[in-house]
Amino acid sequence: MKEKLFIFSAPSGAGKSTIVQHLMKQGLGLEFSISATSREPREGEVDGREYHFISPEKFRKMIKEDAFIEWEEVYPDQFYGTLYSEVENIWKRGKHAIFDIDVVGGQNLKKEFGERACAIFIQAPSREVLEQRLRARATDDEASLQLRLGKAMFEMEHATHFDHILINDSLEKALAEAEKIVTDFMAL
Ligand code: ADP
Ligand code: 5GP
Repeated sequence: MKEKLFIFSAPSGAGKSTIVQHLMKQGLGLEFSISATSREPREGEVDGREYHFISPEKFRKMIKEDAFIEWEEVYPDQFYGTLYSEVENIWKRGKHAIFDIDVVGGQNLKKEFGERACAIFIQAPSREVLEQRLRARATDDEASLQLRLGKAMFEMEHATHFDHILINDSLEKALAEAEKIVTDFMAL
């Protein structure tokens, strides 16, 4: 079977990481595509596990060298991008690549890989719930939280460009639905 890509996109706080981390533990042959970023690591984050953490200068240099399939300056001086080498290495190991990526990045990956990619948009049940979850996660200061909420409103409008929309209300149901979407696409 040809190796595929699974793209999970959503506004920050909608539950991408929770869903992607769950899927990774199900023995489905998925390998997480580690993005590069120039933001500072959060407490508990490890270089080469959540992200490849690099400086904004190094990031700009790698853009010039064409190292990225897609990249974005998601917040000022905070770059995020997917490395060509990352996807190539995952496929070489015979695994499917799984992405936790913002909405614009997800759309760009889908454009690049077409039929080989399954793009899933995760949606929180409402803006209020999204805000509650971001606050409960307590990983961002107020300014950073407001930035993420502002971006979320814009991102919600792009849901229709994805192959699937998954509402993350009951987590249990969302996880089961995500698993079904992934295994169905693998079987194609
Ligand atoms: P993202 O990766 O999209 O930014 P996270 O997976 O970090 O989002 O989820 C944001 C917060 O909401 C986390 O604290 C997570 O535990 C919580 N969360 C995720 N899904 C649900 C759910 N269905 N119900 C309640 N809380 C949830
Ligand atoms: P965070 O700082 O909360 O980890 O991520 C901020 C945003 O950047 C999230 O929406 C996340 O999905 C997105 N992101 C992570 N990796 C990439 C990537 O490789 N490319 C793009 N375009 N966005 C990414």
